[in-house]
Amino acid sequence: MFILKGIEQLEKAIAKAKKLRPRVEFDCFGRYRVSGSKGYYTVVCKRSDNGYKTVECTCKGAEKGLVCYHAAAALSLHVGLAKQRQTA
Ligand SMILES: [Zn+2]
Repeated sequence: MFILKGIEQLEKAIAKAKKLRPRVEFDCFGRYRVSGSKGYYTVVCKRSDNGYKTVECTCKGAEKGLVCYHAAAALSLHVGLAKQRQTA
C-alpha cells in the first residue's frame, strides 16, 4: 500500500504500464483487476478518513510500498471514472 501524493510519484510506473499495457478490468468503483506477470492483481484505490488517497495492490512490489505499474494502470482508469462522477 502506498499513499498517493502526486503524479510525479507515478511517472515511472506509468511509463512501465504504457510499455507493458496490462489489462485493467473494472470490478467496482475504486476496485480493479490488473493483469501482471503472474496472473491478475487486485488494485484498490480509496480515500482514507484523514483525506489521503491510498492505493493498494496485491503484488509483491506494492507489499513493500513500491508504486507498481498495476496501480498506475488502475489509477488512470480510476481518475477518469472519478471525473465522470463529479461532472455527472
Ligand atoms: Zn502491483
